Amino acid sequence: MRIVADFHVHSKYARATSPRNDIEGLAEGAKIKGIDVMATGDFTHPAYFAEIKSLLGDGADAEGLFPYKGIRYILSTEICVIYHNSEGKLKRMHHILLVPSIEIAAQVNDRLAKYGKLEEDGRPMLKISSVAFAEEMFSISPDIVIMPAHAWTPWFSVFGSIGGVNSIEEAFEDKADKIFCMETGLSSDPAMNWMLSKLDRITLVSNSDAHSLEKLGREANVFDLERPTFKNIVDALKTRKGFTKTYEFYPEEGKYHYDGHRKCNVLMTPWEAAQKKNMCPVCKKKLTVGVMHRVFDLADRKFGYKPKDAVPFQSIVPLTTVISKTLKKPDTSRFVKEEYDKLVRYFGNEFAVFESDAEKIRLATSASIADSILRVKTGDVKWVPGYDGVFGELILSDSSGSATKKSVDKKQKSLDDF
Ligand SMILES: [Zn+2]
Ligand SMILES: [Zn+2]
Repeated sequence: MRIVADFHVHSKYARATSPRNDIEGLAEGAKIKGIDVMATGDFTHPAYFAEIKSLLGDGADAEGLFPYKGIRYILSTEICVIYHNSEGKLKRMHHILLVPSIEIAAQVNDRLAKYGKLEEDGRPMLKISSVAFAEEMFSISPDIVIMPAHAWTPWFSVFGSIGGVNSIEEAFEDKADKIFCMETGLSSDPAMNWMLSKLDRITLVSNSDAHSLEKLGREANVFDLERPTFKNIVDALKTRKGFTKTYEFYPEEGKYHYDGHRKCNVLMTPWEAAQKKNMCPVCKKKLTVGVMHRVFDLADRKFGYKPKDAVPFQSIVPLTTVISKTLKKPDTSRFVKEEYDKLVRYFGNEFAVFESDAEKIRLATSASIADSILRVKTGDVKWVPGYDGVFGELILSDSSGSATKKSVDKKQKSLDDF
């Protein structure tokens, strides 16, 4: 049974998140995208946890997943740990939790309330180290899954250039062997992570981290499971058996792919930045070192190496972006929305568009939009890469693109091209 899962979203109780992000709204959004198993997000928030309990019940017969209006929910939350390591350096990381029952979620909330104000934000800040956090969680239940979130983003991640460390072991110490999966984040894809042999044992997971319904499933995981249950999903994450593929953002689209300064309008490849000792030529301060740079700093393999039991991935671009770029209209425009709705109606959901063959896609929409979708499917696209909080920009036409900025041709991507 094919199951598409998104394990990381936020609710209306998290900062800068749409008021439509709740159990009702997320279920609707998931159906449009083609997501079967949807994260609740934010179960640590008391008001949201009350909503979860009242709408999803105790889930006693649900084997750790909670059926709701045609989809299934998985209890998920993201927390931020803040601590000083043994050398006194400030560490800040986000970790995702997946738990198998309301009862265990309640215990997690009780335990975490000691370390921060859970009611302040859907993604609470906790004064606890990663290892102490893991200890607390696994003492509640060995079935709890801890997944380091957006593992490479400069701030708030396990490998981040600011506030991160150099290995899962450095963060989780004697609990590291219980960490078996990690979220690659929007600015990195599995191919980049495969450059680190120490990550071979870690299953790479992809989620949306959506703060609005439109962004659900911009990355997701595809499983082939006998039955959708919490245990079957966790087993697939552990063994990679039944973990078919991930849907990935092109990492260039991510907000922290390259290095630079948004305010100074400076975008640099990791190699250029290294030559300048990571200093901004405009303001003379340190550049925000992006994900690609960090990956290359920690890599011990050439780009292009694929570990033998790696889960394959498929790069996609959100359909709204593809349509908006093709029509040269803002993605909030009525024309874009109409084309989007038409395609979703025709195929059933957004992911089904990317699973269809050329013939079907050409029947469903205009020649130019069909062309763009097929180019995304084959990787025939260019990017102005994202940097310092600015999303990358998709370039579909061969002639266009900002002449002043560098674009990356996906077809020629190799280590030497960056
Ligand atoms: Zn986060
Ligand atoms: Zn600057």
